[in-house]
Amino acid sequence: MKFYSTNKKSPLVDLEEAVMNGLAPDGGLYMPETIPKLTNDFFNRAGLLSFQDIAFEVGKNFFKSMIPENTLKSMVQESFNFDVPIVKLDKNLYVLELFHGPTCAFKDFAARFMARLFGFFAGRSQKEITILVATSGDTGSAVAHGFLNVGGVKVIILYPSGKVSPLQEKQLTGMGENITALEIQGTFDDCQTLVKQAFLDKELRGKINLASANSINIARLLPQSFYYVYLCAQLNDKNLPMVVSVPSGNFGNLTAGIIAKKMGAPISRFVASTNSNDVVPQYLKTGDFQPKPSVSTISNAMDVGNPSNFARMLELYADDVEKMRADIRGANFSDVATRDAISNVFNKYNYIMDPHGAVAYLGLLNFVNKFKGYTGVFVETAHPAKFFEEVEKVIKEPVPMPNRLKDYLMREKRATLLHNEFQELKSFLLQ
Ligand SMILES: *Cc1c(COP(=O)(O)O)cnc(C)c1O
Repeated sequence: MKFYSTNKKSPLVDLEEAVMNGLAPDGGLYMPETIPKLTNDFFNRAGLLSFQDIAFEVGKNFFKSMIPENTLKSMVQESFNFDVPIVKLDKNLYVLELFHGPTCAFKDFAARFMARLFGFFAGRSQKEITILVATSGDTGSAVAHGFLNVGGVKVIILYPSGKVSPLQEKQLTGMGENITALEIQGTFDDCQTLVKQAFLDKELRGKINLASANSINIARLLPQSFYYVYLCAQLNDKNLPMVVSVPSGNFGNLTAGIIAKKMGAPISRFVASTNSNDVVPQYLKTGDFQPKPSVSTISNAMDVGNPSNFARMLELYADDVEKMRADIRGANFSDVATRDAISNVFNKYNYIMDPHGAVAYLGLLNFVNKFKGYTGVFVETAHPAKFFEEVEKVIKEPVPMPNRLKDYLMREKRATLLHNEFQELKSFLLQ
């Protein structure tokens, strides 16, 4: 399997180069040359397979030429050593809970798999790698956790000052060891731009072996397709088509869903659910993609004004907005609506959603109110305790906190404050 750049001005590369480069030299994002099809035979027996088995079988299609089978098997077994529950709230209404990993956000799926993939390639090349990662809140901690004490790897996290929750900040800044946090005086988009600039800086790249752990990296994207296949295997209702609502910011999660659909996962439609950072829903409405500065919301991990995976979405739909509309509906919601949804679902089902999952719930509701006869699933991407300040204000009850989150609250914040200036970042990296 080879990988090409969405800008089409860079040569085809193999998995190792795509993973290590992060961004292609022409500034594009890597995509697999073909999307392997899963067979009917696979779907017929998939209902009996564990999450790890499914991850192995799907992963094999992408990675088999580069990673020996038994290595891949242990990678998926170590990466996905937690539950992936599908919770039924009502008739034809399900939640895919993706927050049971160590940092309580769905980013654990990709980060844990990616850490093992890097470990595999780094072990062969014996060169120290510096991983640069911009985070709107959850990526940084999942990556930090995934790479903690991995030999030969340094992780540098850029996060927007004052724009992550207090608990998220502790998760980002309290790790120590090979993990360094940079608090940037800017937005998430600024952090993301700084990282992209670093990758395009020849001098920097000549001196340090940089790698990216953002969803620009194909290593993060592909493992996210596994849980869509698993969802279809578990909720196999041949009578009703399935619609899946995905709370979206940088659109890596939704892009992985589209890839799963192209592999043959029987998902009929997606809802691209956003907060007020709605450039993709606007694109679906108008056909015009207009990135704009991000605004702060209570679902902060989705405060993205220029989603980087949009280039991949365009690629998957051959730049045709009509084709994209046939699969994806856009929907965007205010913080007021999000809080109401948390409250309503708590009162009706005694189920506590986090603000990101609540946006996805609203997107799903919006869809099923308009189109009847679907099995509806919304994706819950973070444990509500990660956002307990916000959620407790709404439901007026304490949110039970898992022990693995309590542990972070005790840690001390250690971060270096930098202006939103590429030169400052560059000097820091070179010192
Ligand atoms: C990162 C994140 C999102 C957005 O995912 P994308 O792949 O960037 O669209 C949604 N919810 C939570 C909790 C996140 O951490």
